[in-house]
Amino acid sequence: MIKRFDLHTHTHFSDGEGTVQEKVEKAVELGLDLIAITDHFDEPLNHRMTVQQLQELSKIVKGKEYSIPVLLGIETGIEGSVPLELQGQVDFIIRSIHYLRKPVQAKSPYDPLYWEAYKEEILALLRAGGDVLGHVEGYMPLPLGDLKTTFEERREMEREVAQKFFTKDWQEEVARLATKHRVAIELHSFTKTPRLDFIRLCQEEGCIFSVGSDAHPTYNVGQIDWAFEVIEELKIPKTQLLPYVKGWLE
Ligand SMILES: [Zn+2]
Ligand SMILES: [Zn+2]
Repeated sequence: MIKRFDLHTHTHFSDGEGTVQEKVEKAVELGLDLIAITDHFDEPLNHRMTVQQLQELSKIVKGKEYSIPVLLGIETGIEGSVPLELQGQVDFIIRSIHYLRKPVQAKSPYDPLYWEAYKEEILALLRAGGDVLGHVEGYMPLPLGDLKTTFEERREMEREVAQKFFTKDWQEEVARLATKHRVAIELHSFTKTPRLDFIRLCQEEGCIFSVGSDAHPTYNVGQIDWAFEVIEELKIPKTQLLPYVKGWLE
């Protein structure tokens, strides 16, 4: 029996809502066995934590006994790292792409040059190590310009981008690098990404996987059903799931 876990949530320490306590209570209410708090850190994002805030957050997460294990992670970009004074406190690093380091002037949301650059960034990110590759085909930095879009329209655009540009040879390279560097591929439950074929390819290559709701409001904690359906459907074993690989769950 695979236990249920959510390894990607945000609090008021970055751009989420609610406290650690509220996130944990929600997880317990839903019967989860493990939760991680993973606020944004060390990126050119306005809502990232400072070192001092991360220290404060660490005290809250590590300084108390909760009724389920609570891990402290950070969500960062390619260059982010855990400050020396906090190494040993932070349990893991999610690396995700929220922007391109070298901006590409996209002529449209489907500009091939832009997406080639994104794909290169993902490969660079895998080479940078860390524990989890966050939302590889979801929450992408869509070059929208002045275009007004809804949440669902953006997800639809992402599916189109993935279909158009994320070719099999690139997926294979992602799978190969993720396996080589022991970086887990995140099953990003809130956007239901990456695509099933991509996950299957990663599984066959020997990748490990993480599961995250990427909850910002507390009521989204534990929205992980999609990911666990995928785990069941593809028969992904515990030996390919991050919390078991790390010994956080047995
Ligand atoms: Zn993110
Ligand atoms: Zn996130």
